[in-house]
Amino acid sequence: MTRIHPDSVTLNDYVDDALPEKERAAVDSHVASCASCREMVSGLRSVVVAAAALQPAEPPRAAWARIEREIRRQSGGRLAPRWRWLAAAATLVLATFAGLKLAGVWQKPAAPVIAAPA
Ligand SMILES: [Zn+2]
Repeated sequence: MTRIHPDSVTLNDYVDDALPEKERAAVDSHVASCASCREMVSGLRSVVVAAAALQPAEPPRAAWARIEREIRRQSGGRLAPRWRWLAAAATLVLATFAGLKLAGVWQKPAAPVIAAPA
């Protein structure tokens, strides 16, 4: 058993099946004998299961138009320079998320291939 608790990054990678085999075996051994880490792993797995069940959220098309109308209403019909920058930033963020989603960036990476010993 490893006496030192794995850090949270290692436990996250462990739950994501992203550790090299040797490190995974060490964490396996530690988790089997450490209630604290076992609880952490269980919690992380619950988060993974809950996140996998989420549907992708698309902002409604009219959302930005409504926000812009409200900002204009509150600012007397024209956007203050600060709001223009915020509007540009919000548009950039939405476009980035849409692009990342289209590119499949959030798909889970394939499991690492481990060569069999010769
Ligand atoms: Zn531990």
